[in-house]
Amino acid sequence: MKTAVILFGPPGAGKGTQARRLSVELGYPSVSTGDILREAVAAGTELGLAARKYMESGMLVPDEVVDGIARDRLMRPDCARGFILDGYPRTINQAEHVESLFPRGELNTVVVGIRVDDEVLLRRLAGRRTCPGCAKMFHVQSSPSKAGDRCDECGTQLVQRRDDSEQVVKERLRVYQENTRPLIEFYKSRKVYFEVDGSGAVDGIFESILGIVNARLGRGAVSA
Ligand code: AMP
Repeated sequence: MKTAVILFGPPGAGKGTQARRLSVELGYPSVSTGDILREAVAAGTELGLAARKYMESGMLVPDEVVDGIARDRLMRPDCARGFILDGYPRTINQAEHVESLFPRGELNTVVVGIRVDDEVLLRRLAGRRTCPGCAKMFHVQSSPSKAGDRCDECGTQLVQRRDDSEQVVKERLRVYQENTRPLIEFYKSRKVYFEVDGSGAVDGIFESILGIVNARLGRGAVSA
């Protein structure tokens, strides 16, 4: 059996932060289609050029493009025991694509939705700064870098994501409601959907997520 932990939620819910921690804790790689696409944009590859206009306007990159990226990544040897998905799948088609990649019964899937109000999301995204070097995330108020405007882990100059501007964030939230939220029902019908309150401190949210994941993997009791 292969473990698939899917972190689910609107932009700004904290999926990336929690995925990185879970990856360390569980020893599975964290796979973010957003990070892979941003790398492609920065490198100016064909994929990056194709994806850029969608990303900068807050729209979803077409399913066939993202599905190809995910397939290539999930077939790599480091995903053999399991993986953590951050920001993928985002549509019902993408969710069906994940299932099609593995023989029925091979995947032990647990989906954890991180629930956060729109108002909090807007505040978080406006102050978010990311490290293009190691993908560590900061917030100018709630979790600033100890090294000022540089990453306190690898020293790279921090940036604000272009799609974290207010106008693009509103579009991303709209797209989430319309295309991505319906996945909750999809995974509920498969009895693999769980939810945590994502409005509190990072550590507490992480403990809640870990409790759910461990219970699903048969390593403890559900704590959320
Ligand atoms: P993220 O970092 O996950 O917020 O992704 C940033 C942007 O990359 C999104 O707003 C989309 O334009 C694109 N993107 C990332 N993942 C996906 C996906 N699974 N499906 C479609 N577009 C995606």
